[in-house]
Amino acid sequence: MAKRDYYDILGVGRDATPEQIKKAYRTLARKYHPDVNPNDKEAEEKFKEVKEAYDVLSDPDKRARYDQFGHAGTSDQGFGGFGDFGGFGGGADFGGFGDIFDMFFGGFGGSAKRQGPQKGDDLRYDLDITFEEAAFGVEKDIEIPRTEECPTCNGSGAEPGTHPTACSVCGGTGQVRITQSTPLGRFQTIKTCTQCHGTGRIISTPCHECKGRGKVRRFRKIHITIPAGVDNDSKLRVPGEGEAGSLGGPPGDLYVFISVKPHKLFKRKGYDVISEAEINFVQAALGDEIQVPTLDGMIKLKIPEGTQTGTSFRLKGRGISRLRSTGRGDHHVKIVVVTPTNLTEKQKEALREFGKTLTQDNQKAKEKGFFDKVKEAFK
Ligand SMILES: [Zn+2]
Ligand SMILES: [Zn+2]
Repeated sequence: MAKRDYYDILGVGRDATPEQIKKAYRTLARKYHPDVNPNDKEAEEKFKEVKEAYDVLSDPDKRARYDQFGHAGTSDQGFGGFGDFGGFGGGADFGGFGDIFDMFFGGFGGSAKRQGPQKGDDLRYDLDITFEEAAFGVEKDIEIPRTEECPTCNGSGAEPGTHPTACSVCGGTGQVRITQSTPLGRFQTIKTCTQCHGTGRIISTPCHECKGRGKVRRFRKIHITIPAGVDNDSKLRVPGEGEAGSLGGPPGDLYVFISVKPHKLFKRKGYDVISEAEINFVQAALGDEIQVPTLDGMIKLKIPEGTQTGTSFRLKGRGISRLRSTGRGDHHVKIVVVTPTNLTEKQKEALREFGKTLTQDNQKAKEKGFFDKVKEAFK
């Protein structure tokens, strides 16, 4: 869409004086101002157009560039901020009478809205649980401090038997119109009523319990069910258990942030549990049956003959319950072969004797032994 000529927009000649430009702008700004034309899209567009034209033509540099190059001469001036009225608050763009517009816009854009029902704030509760509780789920009673609707006045803020009355200042609308005389003329702005703070109601006999606020601070016990499989980043939403809402609005939600305490023996990887089991080198060489701790208590684990340190054995289905699903992860037992210490002379002698019988073939951990790899490395 081609932009209209700035001089045409303001309805002035190309030789207009700064005073004539300012005068034309004032007249048009007053005519199309959004406060004068509420919800009028066309007026809003016109107002922006007028503002943009004035911004350029009131600035001698910009005007000179515009005269020479047309709109292209001003395109690098960053007029992108014209999209909404939110950016109009700063007075600087308005030159000498920015302050008037500041007053003018004071009540514009949301602040004059009548206060209606508002949803209460969400609450956060941090809960520490044990490794086992995370694995299998748990039910907890927690106590949270929060604001609740005052039970004495049911949230109205008025002493029982009395009723709030309509605010006499705003007539119950929560808004007041303020007429201001400015060099641009008389304008009406809509502001939030300061008498009733936008509620439209005045409480003449405040409730003795909540002092008219309609809310009280209470500790509340809440029963929560933590599902099996939760982990450190798990968040639980308990709808409607947050702070009370205002003026009949719904309460917020409660968010329980889970943190799982570390376990002395177990580590977690997804839904699997990982632990270590120590065996001596005789058990490792000859095989054995040992007891290992799991989430289900002590469980028998068969160690096969010739087990190497670092080998993991899997106990299927002994891990953590899958969150909101069925089945469990596995438990992996990592074997650590412990070298004996503090040997007696007799034990040492037995080992020396045993050592003499060891062949290279005895030292092969799977298909290729350590000595085979050393040999290959030095070939
Ligand atoms: Zn009350
Ligand atoms: Zn009022």
